[in-house]
Amino acid sequence: MDVDVLVVGAGPTGLMLANQLVRRGVRVLIVDRHSGPSLQTRALGVQARTLEIYSQLGIVDRALELGKIGNGANLWAQGRKMARVPLGEAGRTATPYPYILILGQDDNERIMGDKLRDLGVSVQWSTELVGLAQEAGQVTATLESPGGASRKIAAAWVAGCDGARSTVRELSGITFPGAPYEHVFFVADTEVTGSMVPDEVNVYLWQKGFHLLFPMRGKDHWRIVGILPSALRDTHDVSFEAVIPSLRNEAGAGLSIKACTWFSTYRIHHRSASRFRDRRAFLLGDAAHIHSPVGAQGMNTGLQDAYNLAWKLALVVKGRADAALLDSYEEERVPIAQRLLNTTDRAFRLVVSDSWLVGLLRTKILARVAAFAMSLKRVQRIAFRIVSQTGIHYRTSALSQSQPGLPDSAPRGGDRFPWLRLELRADGPVEDLFQKLDDTRFNLIVIGQPSPAEGAIGLGDLCRIHAIPADPINDAELARAQLPQPSFYLLRPDGHVGLCGARLEAGAVERYASEHLHLRVRGA
Ligand SMILES: Cc1cc2nc3c(=O)[nH]c(=O)nc-3n(C[C@H](O)[C@H](O)[C@H](O)COP(=O)(O)OP(=O)(O)OC[C@H]3O[C@@H](n4cnc5c(N)ncnc54)[C@H](O)[C@@H]3O)c2cc1C
Repeated sequence: MDVDVLVVGAGPTGLMLANQLVRRGVRVLIVDRHSGPSLQTRALGVQARTLEIYSQLGIVDRALELGKIGNGANLWAQGRKMARVPLGEAGRTATPYPYILILGQDDNERIMGDKLRDLGVSVQWSTELVGLAQEAGQVTATLESPGGASRKIAAAWVAGCDGARSTVRELSGITFPGAPYEHVFFVADTEVTGSMVPDEVNVYLWQKGFHLLFPMRGKDHWRIVGILPSALRDTHDVSFEAVIPSLRNEAGAGLSIKACTWFSTYRIHHRSASRFRDRRAFLLGDAAHIHSPVGAQGMNTGLQDAYNLAWKLALVVKGRADAALLDSYEEERVPIAQRLLNTTDRAFRLVVSDSWLVGLLRTKILARVAAFAMSLKRVQRIAFRIVSQTGIHYRTSALSQSQPGLPDSAPRGGDRFPWLRLELRADGPVEDLFQKLDDTRFNLIVIGQPSPAEGAIGLGDLCRIHAIPADPINDAELARAQLPQPSFYLLRPDGHVGLCGARLEAGAVERYASEHLHLRVRGA
């Protein structure tokens, strides 16, 4: 076998997967048909859940240094500011990163590429996957370099992180049902001044669509995203100048445009692959699902696909788990993609519909309803959980087990374990629990009961135990997160709850690991 995993595509999804596999000791080859990293910004919004993953990977400081924090989003209609969604406030207790980080896809790729190189692996550019044959126990991939030179690589597994036109998907015979939208998007990197609230996202709703303005690094630097006025939809080579009249009309006559450094138009689709796996080949990111950029979810969802698959693939490659564990990748990620497609589709249709009635609804009613709803703290918190992706859960997965005895309000199997600040040593300082979790292993959180000895739970070096000391500060924090005492939570490496319950019985974790995770544990 030449490599354990061949990663096809060095966009954000492929780079995240390669990083996560390499740091778990997996032999990876990552190839991309382009001659070098992309210089286009494309995705721009980095969500809180992605930043939590970046933190575990050791790249969050670099991302924060290069990006711009968006603390809030402002909704405008007919020249008036209708509502402000205070992102920071709504997520303050939910995550260490209660905001959207405005950081271009190119910067995200550069940071992940640098990290991968630090780990000893470089992308093989100008290398295109052109053939894939699945055989017993391996995949043979044909890779082509410019000039037509081709070579064959034997890999145990292949990850198709090769974007919307995925070759892996095509060669695996997996269909990609869905459709294009009739609307055409434009993106422009500009230097402008106007009514926008500085350093925050500004959304201008208008009778026939919307304009989104994202603050970028640098003075008066804004990324503008909008839909082309219908009269321009079928025009080739639309220039930025052509969209300025509608922009001025809707985002205010006071908008003063000083420069435009990049302008591009694109037609978007909503599609989801019929399967995310064909035997030894997996699909992740845009290769598996594409949807409207409303909500800035696309890149983030691909990164989470990678984070979900990596630990499972690593355990299987290392012989610590049976391949049956990999079935949970599709089981967990297909519903997430479907839900995302449905919600972004509904939101997109509402914000772009050409209908006069919907236009009226958008500018008169939607803006007012949103203004009222967003004044409610509970709605703010729910909206933050959805957009930040911290609310994603796998409750229906076979890997998610909640023993009886926990109150309904408590976190359950499949949930992302809540962010907590606790005294992890009696009378010690208050610390960030997420910083203490080791995401290359399972983590067992033991609350309000004696902790088992290391080695007594049957997972050996695959698990870390974190006993939460009894303490008034801890009691208050646990109560806030609805974590009962006594309870225990076995977290998967990706931070989601695998097994949870009230009293930790001897053998429960080992049994769960063998029966549900398919781990090859001591007694199995
Ligand atoms: C204008 C625009 C704005 C967007 N804004 C946002 C946003 O704000 N937030 C957000 O989350 N998402 C956004 N998105 C979506 C986001 O860009 C994508 O979801 C993201 O790029 C997907 O990453 P990926 O790694 O899965 O695929 P890609 O980035 O498409 O990477 C795939 C890689 O695979 C390579 N490849 C393809 N075929 C082969 C082959 N046969 N052999 C070898 N290599 C191959 C390609 O060269 C490419 O480098 C936006 C998209 C666009 C176009």
